[in-house]
Amino acid sequence: MNDLVITKYIQEKDSYKIDNYVKNGGYKASVRALTTMTSDQIIDEVKKSNLRGRGGAGFPAGMKWSFMPKDNKKTKYLVCNADEGEPGTFKDRLIITKNPHAMIEGMIIASFAIGANVAYLYIRGEFFREARMLEFALNEARAKGHLGKNLYGTQHSFDIYIYRGAGAYICGEETALLNSLEGKRGEPRLKPPFPAQVGAFGMPSCVNNVETFASVPYIINEGAAKFAAMGTERSGGTRLYGVSGHITRPGIYELPLTITIRELIEHCGGVRGGKKLKAVIPGGASAPMLSADDIDVKLEFDALMKAGSMAGSGGVIVIDETVCIVEMACILLKFYEHESCGQCTQCREGSHWLAQLFQRIESGGGTMADLDTIAAICGNMAGQTICAFADAVTGPALSAVRKFRSEFEQHIIQKGCPFHKNGHPHSHSASSDRGVAHV
Ligand code: SF4
Repeated sequence: MNDLVITKYIQEKDSYKIDNYVKNGGYKASVRALTTMTSDQIIDEVKKSNLRGRGGAGFPAGMKWSFMPKDNKKTKYLVCNADEGEPGTFKDRLIITKNPHAMIEGMIIASFAIGANVAYLYIRGEFFREARMLEFALNEARAKGHLGKNLYGTQHSFDIYIYRGAGAYICGEETALLNSLEGKRGEPRLKPPFPAQVGAFGMPSCVNNVETFASVPYIINEGAAKFAAMGTERSGGTRLYGVSGHITRPGIYELPLTITIRELIEHCGGVRGGKKLKAVIPGGASAPMLSADDIDVKLEFDALMKAGSMAGSGGVIVIDETVCIVEMACILLKFYEHESCGQCTQCREGSHWLAQLFQRIESGGGTMADLDTIAAICGNMAGQTICAFADAVTGPALSAVRKFRSEFEQHIIQKGCPFHKNGHPHSHSASSDRGVAHV
């Protein structure tokens, strides 16, 4: 049985308080790292652990830290991405409210490893309560000497400042987050230069997710080998899966990266009400959908990539047989249309036209040619833009049409939704006349 890396003590009363964290061995890793290890040793340990970023991209954390320039005298910044805007994703909120000191301790260790004295914690604007709880946790850490000048008697000084976002999905993308942090529009930057060269305020910066930081104390305490052994060959540790949708016991589960989707669904009590599974979105709304036939894949970065989807943010959305995939895709596409930052024509126009096409098909005005047009628009979006948002739009759009094409065809042939034969609750009678044929 694997250890729990992050949630072992979260059921305890007041688990978020520093006394509780320290009672359970908290802040030993930061003291040890800062007083007995060099920054290179820490980075090597994190590399060996195979810890991959838990925000969505799955980039190896140790490698990211090693990209930070060493002999550069410029100020360096550490940034924690707590934007958590991906639909279906709610696991960072659990860490913030139940185990914030694991994240803070991970940030202390990371700051020493990369040579940063200041960190910004970028938290999504809607997280009022969470921001207050973080402020409380940071004050506790300051009061106990874990943040401030000359930590643990070393030369290393470090503090963390909270910055609250204003609610844009795209600010979860690290360079859009950096722009927002600087007070600019939250628009992604063209790369290179990458944040390790030119990040916050023009300085070298390293951005990691809440869960990524919260995993670091365990690696220092227990060793990289133990952490790596919990996962697969290239992905170490456990993962927090936020399971939602038509599932008997929705919630957040910390499980090994070796678990399959089928095993996770069984672990959570199966599909709600004994219904049949239709589809699963395995990594937040941007991850391409999988059908019920695809669920023997491991919920891990490489395996899901091979299966045509992605591990993304760990938000697993379970969809039962009662769901109209066309309607669901339509809702997702409207979301993306709204959230595109608009810098790239392919994304701005493409997400708009996809939303229009899906809506037309859903409301009964679509044609078979629309399905080819959807594929053509997606082909012109993916990989053609400043950031990966455009790819994220095409994931659900293409996978919905590819995996559930017959549902789209039924909508077109029957001129309406077969799931709502007696009147569609979301009927948009005028939407078929919106000029979509001019795409
Ligand atoms: Fe903005 Fe979309 Fe371009 Fe990303 S791909 S920069 S979200 S317009």
